[in-house]
Amino acid sequence: MNTIPTLLTIGELLVEFVSREKGCGLERVTAFDGPFPSGAPAIFLDQAARMGAPTRMIGAVGRDGFGRNLKARLEADGVDTRHIGESETLTTGTAFVSYYDDGTRTFIFHLAGTAADASRFDEAMLPKGEIVLHVSASSLGSAPLRRAIMQATESVLARGGRLSLDPNARPELMRDRESREALENLLARSHFLMPSVSDLDFLFPGLSTEAAIDRLLAMQAEIVAVKKGAEGALLVDRGERHLYAPHAVEEVDPTGAGDGFCGTLMALLLQGRPLEEAGRMANAAGAIAVTRRGPMEGNSTPQEICAFLNAESEKDRKT
Ligand code: ATP
Ligand code: MG
Repeated sequence: MNTIPTLLTIGELLVEFVSREKGCGLERVTAFDGPFPSGAPAIFLDQAARMGAPTRMIGAVGRDGFGRNLKARLEADGVDTRHIGESETLTTGTAFVSYYDDGTRTFIFHLAGTAADASRFDEAMLPKGEIVLHVSASSLGSAPLRRAIMQATESVLARGGRLSLDPNARPELMRDRESREALENLLARSHFLMPSVSDLDFLFPGLSTEAAIDRLLAMQAEIVAVKKGAEGALLVDRGERHLYAPHAVEEVDPTGAGDGFCGTLMALLLQGRPLEEAGRMANAAGAIAVTRRGPMEGNSTPQEICAFLNAESEKDRKT
């Protein structure tokens, strides 16, 4: 009998191409590296699997090289991919990204009209035992994914499961009413909430981070993790509060740091690790992620995170 809850995600699976040169803005002809496996829920789950959590992903790819690339990576890291469908007619989703010198980026996503539209949920896809359904709000902009996620939410909650949510509240996504409503619905029912500072600004305009956290704790949230990018992270539950200073790292590619942070945190909490330790590991996982090129390439193992933290405390001892 498996006593660790299974982390289940439903969401987009896509491959990403990263321009080799900065500042080309996806306008000029230039060289790209890729296909890198990507998609916020997939990055999250891959990292959680690396951290030892039982995981299962529901979604769809095309019957093509990009789809095989994604499934192979997830399987190699221990994710249960049996419910990742393969569309015969639609191709795998793609994204192109290019950075500027100041760290900002331009994205072009191709998700609508790709295999993501073939994503379906069915009760029979639920794993046995306790379940935590993780949703990245980036998935809610796709009507087929949103439908599957909301169906799964009802099934998982009816079975006594819990929800975790990365609000990833991108204003460009939330222009449509259905996505915003789905986000509000999940926000009010999630046990684990992992917003970034910009998500809190979007959700609670004008409120301080502290006041926003209080609002979230007044809902269903038991644990709120606030991701603060290059300023570290803050973890709060109804009794504890932990602030994590950022690690000084060179930011090469920040995409996926938030997902790696959340995957690390959830995997450790579900394995019964204390909040302080889970947050410390997640803060390190996020810092490691930004130093590597490619969204999922930033994911790390428990051994890598421990080695990183040991090296950091060695640096502190010497200064
Ligand atoms: P995204 O949605 O773009 O994936 P996010 O906004 O959800 O990202 P971030 O806050 O960017 O998430 O990153 C998650 C965590 O990773 C941070 O809370 C922090 O712990 C770590 N981190 C991110 N960027 C840096 C950095 N430049 N230096 C050190 N740590 C970082
Ligand atoms: Mg985010």
